[in-house]
Amino acid sequence: MNVPTNSLVRAKMPLEMLLRSFFIATISSKKFLLIPALKLLSFFSKPGRSYLFNVDRNPVLHGILKKTFYNQFCAGESKQETKACCKSLTDLGFKGIILTFAKEMVFDHRNKAPEAPAEQAAKAETAATHDPVVEEWRVGTLATVDMIEKGDILALKTTGGGPAVGEAFHRGELPPQQMMDALDEIATKCKERGIQIIVDAESQYFQKGIARTSLELMRKFNREPTVVIYNTYQAYLKNQPKYLQQHLAEAEKDGFTLGLKLVRGAYILSDDRALIHDTKEDTDAAYNGIVEGALHQKLWDFGVSRPFPATNLFLASHNKHSLITAQRLQAQRESDGLPTVPIAFAQLHGMSDEVGFSLLKEQCADGKAPDVFKCSTWGSMGDCVAYLLRRAVENRDAVLRTKDEFNALKKEVWKRLGFGRS
Ligand SMILES: Cc1cc2nc3c(=O)[nH]c(=O)nc-3n(C[C@H](O)[C@H](O)[C@H](O)COP(=O)(O)OP(=O)(O)OC[C@H]3O[C@@H](n4cnc5c(N)ncnc54)[C@H](O)[C@@H]3O)c2cc1C
Repeated sequence: MNVPTNSLVRAKMPLEMLLRSFFIATISSKKFLLIPALKLLSFFSKPGRSYLFNVDRNPVLHGILKKTFYNQFCAGESKQETKACCKSLTDLGFKGIILTFAKEMVFDHRNKAPEAPAEQAAKAETAATHDPVVEEWRVGTLATVDMIEKGDILALKTTGGGPAVGEAFHRGELPPQQMMDALDEIATKCKERGIQIIVDAESQYFQKGIARTSLELMRKFNREPTVVIYNTYQAYLKNQPKYLQQHLAEAEKDGFTLGLKLVRGAYILSDDRALIHDTKEDTDAAYNGIVEGALHQKLWDFGVSRPFPATNLFLASHNKHSLITAQRLQAQRESDGLPTVPIAFAQLHGMSDEVGFSLLKEQCADGKAPDVFKCSTWGSMGDCVAYLLRRAVENRDAVLRTKDEFNALKKEVWKRLGFGRS
């Protein structure tokens, strides 16, 4: 495959996309613009806003957010919009799309309350055997499967199943049977269509039950030669090694393949800070340590005093250093005939195209480019606004990366205006 250089990709960007990316990069790279933007997004993300501040009901507010933040980071509000956006992303050279239905609940540690829309909470009161919120999530998720192709990936935000599901997750339990049936139906359909599934990691309040649920799905669906399910592990958590060791032990005992999607973690703003590593350096060391261990098939006592279970590694990150180092290590070990695990990569839509394209220029042991995916979210503005807030926070934290992105986009805008060198 011919991989365009990063500047060529920007040169091919439609004008609207270029200007929008430049607008977002301008806000993200200037503190005095980003702080009010974050405050506004945080305000809009709270449920139960009046008409004036309701992002779904107020058409002016909806239009402004749609043309800016939404279109930068999300795929669409309808099937048609979403499919068109997915195509435009794969046309850029990525292996495929990871698509999520945006419905979720975020637990704000400071407010001690899951931020589910008010009507959902009311519906949960009446949910006994048939929960309409689970049904809505099931239908939305199956619609998501219909928007993607063989080889693409479905990502699940399982708290989208609503308060009854969230409560079970918080207790560390599997969700109600209706949700388990929905997950089974979705996984079966995906397996038939050659689509893999990633279960996203969410707020710590829910995470115990989410991880338990995806473990059960891996146990059932990750039987050789297919890996259908990936669970997400958040390296920024101090206790993450404990969970990963438990899951490796389960995979070893029951003979299934562990789908190990590794992220640093996105809920630093809302989760209990004490659970998260004290410094960014500690999070980086945890992330890179797990990657290196998996690629050497030596993690804790796995691969040392006991077998290393079959594992597929999926690195979801914008950290170029972590990803390029991992890719080169994996390729080196494969060409040296040393034990290692399969690896794939993903970045979020609207972020770090530079990183994705740099990866695509790397070579695997067979001479091919690595598998790099672009991950996007679809859903109504109201459902996507918490997601948008997390992306804005990440841009705030990735100061160097957003500055580089801003400078590169500025150069391209200047060139098109006739001021720059071609
Ligand atoms: C395709 C994809 C899927 C994702 N899915 C999920 C998911 O399911 N669940 C989820 O939680 N996140 C998810 N994320 C987001 C991810 O967890 C990170 O928030 C985001 O990618 C930024 O981290 P990074 O590795 O890209 O790079 P970097 O910019 O190198 O790292 C930033 C991250 O470091 C950590 N960090 C920053 N400051 C500190 C500090 N002071 N102390 C300790 N740690 C710190 C935080 O995790 C922060 O997000 C996903 C990301 C991608 C690309």
